[in-house]
Amino acid sequence: ASKRGGKMRCTWFNEAFDRSREQLKDLEDELRTALSRDEFRVHYQPLVDAETRQITTVECLLRWERPDGKDVGPAVFIPVAEESGLINPIGLWVLRQACCDALEWEGITLSVNISAAQLRNPEFPIQLGHILEETGFAPERLELEITETCLVLDPVVAERSLDLIRGFGVRVALDDFGTGYASIGFLRQFRFEKLKIDRSLVAQAHEDDGSRAIMVSSITLARAMNMDVTAEGVETEEQAAMVRAAGCDQVQGWLYFKAMPADELVQHLNKPVDRSDSAIRPDKGSKVA
Ligand code: C2E
Ligand code: MG
Ligand code: MG
Ligand code: MG
Repeated sequence: ASKRGGKMRCTWFNEAFDRSREQLKDLEDELRTALSRDEFRVHYQPLVDAETRQITTVECLLRWERPDGKDVGPAVFIPVAEESGLINPIGLWVLRQACCDALEWEGITLSVNISAAQLRNPEFPIQLGHILEETGFAPERLELEITETCLVLDPVVAERSLDLIRGFGVRVALDDFGTGYASIGFLRQFRFEKLKIDRSLVAQAHEDDGSRAIMVSSITLARAMNMDVTAEGVETEEQAAMVRAAGCDQVQGWLYFKAMPADELVQHLNKPVDRSDSAIRPDKGSKVA
């Protein structure tokens, strides 16, 4: 009986495995056509100066408007795009679209996420150079967000590509710091212009002393190495006060803004900063009777 049970479990497992593999293949096919059918959109989430709350930078976050209306976020489809190599054309599309959109956003830095698979492609720096040239976007206004995966997989190619990219005047940020294994050695070797403290570390730092010590000393270290520091995923005033006190230069999170389409963003870029809390949290303590 136990033998039969084992066999049945095995069949069940294989079927489930085949099914999920099929779904993955379907998703890959859909992604392949999504580009040609113009189903991708770039949304922008502002990063604000920790002191003045002025918007300094906008991060490009990819959205997929599927014809069936199903909401599939980048956390799901980006890994599939990476696995299949589709991230290369998709990533170039994002860069081109964002550079066009942001051309007129004077004084605002554009921050674009770059996958490990893109950075490992030796053609990438050349392709980036073409996009900058074609769009006329000033390289000094562009920042690339990379994760430590890029650096672990292929440190030699990564370092060479980053050198070329920096040669254009583009800055490099280490994204999602505090989630993985990024070592102090990495910070020294790759000399990022910016460190982005991951949302999970910000949230944990607010909860427990150990995490807070890690966050505070990471920020201190980054600043001592002349890096800019951004705290991601700030959702409450308490977290904002904490990361500001720890020395963050910029803050990013739903407390301030969610990601939004370009036409919505420009309205915020043209608005003067209102520092009163009621302007940022209209649900709380509105002074208007
Ligand atoms: P990421 O680069 O770390 O981006 C930050 C993510 O946190 C975004 O999720 C953003 O919407 C979300 N977020 C921002 N503030 C808050 C907050 O206060 N609370 C919470 N709960 N979440 C917040 P999103 O847009 O779903 O993107 C997920 C990830 O997908 C990104 O993480 C990035 O790794 C990847 N991704 C997005 N767009 C692109 C792209 O164009 N190219 C590549 N290669 N990856 C991308
Ligand atoms: Mg990012
Ligand atoms: Mg991030
Ligand atoms: Mg993150």
